[in-house]
Amino acid sequence: MANLPPALSGFWVTFSTMFKHTVTEQYPEQAEEFPPKPRFHGRHQLNRHPDGLEKCVGCELCAWACPADAIYVQGGDNTTEGRFSPGERYGRVYQINYLRCIFCALCIEACPTRALTMTNEFDLANNNREDLIYEKQDLLAPLGPDMVPPPHSMVTGTTEKDYYEGKVTGATEQQRNEVAESHGAGATSGGEQV
Ligand code: SF4
Ligand code: SF4
Repeated sequence: MANLPPALSGFWVTFSTMFKHTVTEQYPEQAEEFPPKPRFHGRHQLNRHPDGLEKCVGCELCAWACPADAIYVQGGDNTTEGRFSPGERYGRVYQINYLRCIFCALCIEACPTRALTMTNEFDLANNNREDLIYEKQDLLAPLGPDMVPPPHSMVTGTTEKDYYEGKVTGATEQQRNEVAESHGAGATSGGEQV
C-alpha cells in the first residue's frame, strides 16, 4: 500500500470498503432500533409543576437569548380566577419557529425556572411552513397522573418558593374539585394564539 501511487491508494480504499458490513441506518423503517442519545437536543418542551401548573413565568429571557430570533413570548398576569403558574406571571403566548431554530440550546440555558427543556424528538420535517411554528399547546408537557390542567389555584398554604423547592408533589383534592367545577362551567385552559 505504501508504495502505490496516490490514485491507486484511493481506489484501493473504495474497493476494500465493498467487502465491509454496511452501516447505513434505514429511516424511518428501523427508527426505533436507533433511538437518539439521551442528551440529544430535539423539540422543546414547556414543563409543569407536579400539580399541573406551568413553570413558565413569561419572562422572555429565552427569546432574548435566542441567536436566531426563533422564540416569541407574551407574558400575562395570573389572577385569582385564572392562574396558570405559581407566580405573578405566566406565558400567555409562546411560540417557537422551527424554520429558524438551530437547536443550539441557549434558550434552555437562559430559562431561570427550568420551564424550557429539550426532548429527543428530532423528526420535525413538514411540507408546509405554518406547521413548523409551534404554539404553546404544541410545546406544553403532557399532564402526569397527579396533575390537573390549569387554570387552578396553587396548593393551599404554599408560596411560589415552595414550588421551586419541590415541596409540592401533586394536585390536592381541592384543586381537583376546582378544576372539575370549572370544566363543568365550560372553562378553557392553555395559551392564546396570535
Ligand atoms: S435552540 Fe437556539 S435557536 Fe433554537 S430556539 Fe433555542 S436559542 Fe433559539
Ligand atoms: S420558558 Fe423560561 S425563559 Fe422563556 S419565558 Fe418561560 S420562564 Fe422565561
